[in-house]
Amino acid sequence: MARYTGPVCRRCRREGQKLFLKGSKCYTEKCPVERRQYPPGQHGPASVRRRKQSDYAVQLREKQKVKRIYGLQEKQFRNIFTYAANRPGVTGENLIVALESRLDNVVFRMGFAANRRQARQLVRHRHVAVNGQTVNVPSFRVSAGDEVALRPKSRNLEAVEVSLGARSRPPLLDWLALDEEKRVGRVTRVPTRGDIPLAAQEQLIVELYSK
Ligand code: SF4
Repeated sequence: MARYTGPVCRRCRREGQKLFLKGSKCYTEKCPVERRQYPPGQHGPASVRRRKQSDYAVQLREKQKVKRIYGLQEKQFRNIFTYAANRPGVTGENLIVALESRLDNVVFRMGFAANRRQARQLVRHRHVAVNGQTVNVPSFRVSAGDEVALRPKSRNLEAVEVSLGARSRPPLLDWLALDEEKRVGRVTRVPTRGDIPLAAQEQLIVELYSK
C-alpha cells in the first residue's frame, strides 16, 4: 500500500494546526506550525488572505485532517467510513471509535511508540502481540478485554524506551490500562466519542461522503 513519505510537518501546516505526527518535537517551540502560521508552498503566505472557504472545502479539509492524524490513505479511510456507516448509531462517532480501535493507534495510545507511524512500524515488524498471538496488521481492530503487549524480545527496544520515558508523553486514556514494566496493556472497554481526545468535527466528514 502506498504511503506518504514526505515531510510530515507540511501536513500540519496545510491543516493550519498541530496534528502531533512526530512525537516529542510536537510539544516544543520548534514545531513549524507555531513558527510559520501559513500553508506550505510558494503561495502559502498569500493563501491566508484569500476569500472565505466553501462548505465543500471545509468538509474536505476536515476529512484530510483526520485521515492524516491516523496516517491512512483515502481507500483505507473510505473503507472505515463504510464500516462505520453500516453500524447502528451515529456514523460520525462510529467512525472515530473505529479509527481509535485500530491496533497501531492503541499501541501509540499506550505509549509504546512516540507517534502512530512508529506504532505502525512496531506492528508491521511483528513486535506486538494481541492476546498472546503476534499480529502484524496495523488495521487489526481491538475489542474490549483484549491484551496488547510487546513480544518478549521487543520489550526493551530503544524506540519503546524513549517513548515510554518521554516527559511530554500524553496521559493514558480511561479505556486503556497499562503495566509499563511488563510492557503489557489492556483495552478495558470500547471507547465512546467522549473518551477520545480528537479535535475534529466528524459530522463534516459524514456530510462530505454523503454527497
Ligand atoms: Fe505537526 Fe509535530 Fe511537526 Fe508540529 S512538530 S508540525 S505538531 S508533526
